[in-house]
Amino acid sequence: MTPSALLDLDRRHVWHPYAPMPGLDEPLLVESAAGVRLTLAQPVRGHRELIDGMSSWWAAIHGYRHPVLDRAAADQLGRMSHVMFGGLTHEPGVRLAKRLVDMTPEGLEHVFLADSGSVSVEVAVKMCLQYWRSRGRHRKTRLLTWRGGYHGDTWHPMSVCDPEGGMHHLWSGTLPGQVFAPAPPSGFDAEPDAAYVSELRGLVRRHAEELAAVIVEPVVQGAGGMRFHSPAYLRVLREACDEHDVLLVLDEIATGFGRTGTLFAAGHADVTPDVLCVGKALTGGYLTMAATLCSTRVAEGISRGELPVLAHGPTFMANPLAAAVADASIGLLLEQDWAGEVRRLERGLSEGLEPARTVPGVRDVRVLGAIGVVQLDRPVDLVAASQAAIREGVWLRPFRDTVYTMPPYVTPDEDVARVSAAVCAAVAASVG
Ligand code: PMP
Repeated sequence: MTPSALLDLDRRHVWHPYAPMPGLDEPLLVESAAGVRLTLAQPVRGHRELIDGMSSWWAAIHGYRHPVLDRAAADQLGRMSHVMFGGLTHEPGVRLAKRLVDMTPEGLEHVFLADSGSVSVEVAVKMCLQYWRSRGRHRKTRLLTWRGGYHGDTWHPMSVCDPEGGMHHLWSGTLPGQVFAPAPPSGFDAEPDAAYVSELRGLVRRHAEELAAVIVEPVVQGAGGMRFHSPAYLRVLREACDEHDVLLVLDEIATGFGRTGTLFAAGHADVTPDVLCVGKALTGGYLTMAATLCSTRVAEGISRGELPVLAHGPTFMANPLAAAVADASIGLLLEQDWAGEVRRLERGLSEGLEPARTVPGVRDVRVLGAIGVVQLDRPVDLVAASQAAIREGVWLRPFRDTVYTMPPYVTPDEDVARVSAAVCAAVAASVG
C-alpha cells in the first residue's frame, strides 16, 4: 500500500492516543526503526530519518533492533510465543520475576506480571484493598496521592491522576473519590519544605482510617507535568504510612530502570514501598508488559483473606515472549555501565538545554538523569514545536507547557546535542 493510502485509512479507522475519530493531526508513517533512529516511509521537512528523543515514551532505553533483544525474541518465538498462565508456568516468566525481585528494593518478593502499566496500577490498588479487607478493615478503600500525578488510563489509575490539570477531568464524579495532597514543591535538590511536610503528614493521619494506600510517582511526576521533587518527601510518606497503618505504592513505570540516575527512583531516598509498579522500559520497549511487586506482608495478608487469592488474571499474563525480552533487556542494562551512560546523557542535556534558559517565555529548564525538560509560561504550540523539532531531524512530542526529552541511553553524544538543539528550536517556535 502507498504511504498516502495507509495514512488515509489510518485517519478514517485507527484510534491514536487521546485523539478524536476521524483523526485530526496526520501522524508520521514509520517504516522501521534501528538504533536511535526512526525511518519514515516518506521524507518530512527533508528528513527520512528522525532521532527518537522520546524513547517511545520512556520505553526504548536500548534503542531499536538491538541484536541482543532481537535474538531473545527470536529464540523465544522458536519455543512458544504465548501460553496461558493459569495452572502453567514457564522459564521466561520465572526468570524475569527473580530478576525483578533481585534488582528492586529489598523486601519486594512477589511479582504479578501484568500486560500494561495501567493494569499494573489496577493490580497494585487491588492488592492494597484486598490486603485490608482480609484483615477486616473494610473502611480502608481510599487512596491518597499528589496533585500533578499520572498513573494511567484505566479506572483506578484515572482516579489518582491529577483531577484538575489532568487528562481525566471528564470523569470526575464517576471515579472513586480519592484524597489529594498538594503536589510536592518543585526541585530535585530543593530543601524539603517544612510546612508541606507537616501538611502531608497531617493528611495521612487524618484520613488513615479510610486509606488503603498512598500512591505516588517518586521523584518525577511525568505525564502530569514533568516536575521533579525532593526525594525527602518519599521518606516522609514512608514514615507517615508506617505510623498510621497505610500501605505505600510507588509507581516507577516511567522512572524505573535507571532513567533518573538510580536503578529505581526510590533509591534516591532509600525507601522501600509495600507495592511497586514497573513497566515501559521493562521490555526495552519491545513488547507490552508491566509488573506489580509486593512485600510478603501484603501477599500473605491477601492469601489469608476471605477470598484467599489475588482476584486478577489477564489472558496475556506473563506473556513468555515479552518476559524473555524483558529478561534480556534487564540483563543488557545491568551488564553495562548504565549509570555512567545516564550521567553522560545528563551532562549532554544540561549543556544542550542551557541556551533555553535565557529565552523569554521560558519558566524553567531542568535535567535529571536522562530526562530534559523546558517548561514555558504558556501552553506549547504543539504543531509549531513538533515541526521545528522535525526540521532538526528529531522526534519530540511536546505536551501542555513543556517540551521534553528522554532519549534512549545508547544515544551518542552528537545525537544528544541534536536532540537538545531540537528542544531549543521547538521552544523558540512556541514562544516566537
Ligand atoms: N504510570 C505512569 C507513571 C506512567 O507514566 C504511565 C504511562 N505514561 C502509566 C502509569 C500507564 O502505563 P501504560 O501507558 O503502559 O498503561
